[in-house]
Amino acid sequence: MIRDPELINQLVDTISRFVRERLIPNEARLAEEDAVPPEILAEMKEMGLFGLSIPEEYGGLGLTMEEEALVAMEIGKTSPAFRSVFGTNNGIGAQGILIDGTEEQKAKYVPRLATGEILSSFCLTEPDSGSDAASLRTTAVRDGDHYILNGTKRYITNGPEADLFTVMARTDPENKGAGVFLRLLLRAIRPAWCAARRITRWVRKERIPATLF
Ligand SMILES: Cc1cc2nc3c(=O)[nH]c(=O)nc-3n(C[C@H](O)[C@H](O)[C@H](O)COP(=O)(O)OP(=O)(O)OC[C@H]3O[C@@H](n4cnc5c(N)ncnc54)[C@H](O)[C@@H]3O)c2cc1C
Repeated sequence: MIRDPELINQLVDTISRFVRERLIPNEARLAEEDAVPPEILAEMKEMGLFGLSIPEEYGGLGLTMEEEALVAMEIGKTSPAFRSVFGTNNGIGAQGILIDGTEEQKAKYVPRLATGEILSSFCLTEPDSGSDAASLRTTAVRDGDHYILNGTKRYITNGPEADLFTVMARTDPENKGAGVFLRLLLRAIRPAWCAARRITRWVRKERIPATLF
């Protein structure tokens, strides 16, 4: 659904110009420096790209699926590594909190995801668990008022840079079924829990996600 065609056309035009004039000319630098240039990151935040699909009440643009698809088609004209940086905050990094988080979690994190102040990651995949997510082995064992988390996550987009991680873990290691998952929300405490191993992240200008231990 497109709510206001004129407004969306303006947004798409702005993003199209940004892609042509700022992102495409910086593709080589992105590959060379293995990072999105800081001034480009600042411009992305300024344009609201970190909150495209986050509801307006949390400071996002609140785009509908169709509106977001139009924006995605413009962003898709340059290296996917640029989109990956703000993609998690709009998608897998924020949606779990919006759908299933407490009001306190939403108020605390979502506005900061929308502005890009914090970066998020979603940790489901493991070395031996991909499509069959129910076979994941990472455990979260209750110890008093906290959990001890143990495992390896692989292919985690924005893993090395993220501040906030949604982590899927098994609360009962003996139970191999799919009904014993817990979704934990973690703030990064580097390097204590998260030693992120960067593998060569830019292959043909694409962003290769990280392994987290
Ligand atoms: C660019 C990128 C970013 C990613 N970012 C994240 C992230 O941020 N967080 C995260 O948790 N994960 C992330 N992933 C991991 C991604 O979700 C997994 O790659 C995906 O779940 C598939 O798992 P796998 O690679 O282990 O493949 P597998 O599950 O081993 O599948 C291999 C092949 O077998 C096929 N297959 C598997 N099971 C069946 C079946 N039952 N029947 C028929 N065919 C089957 C699959 O279709 C596929 O072709 C990312 C992956 C990529 C490539």
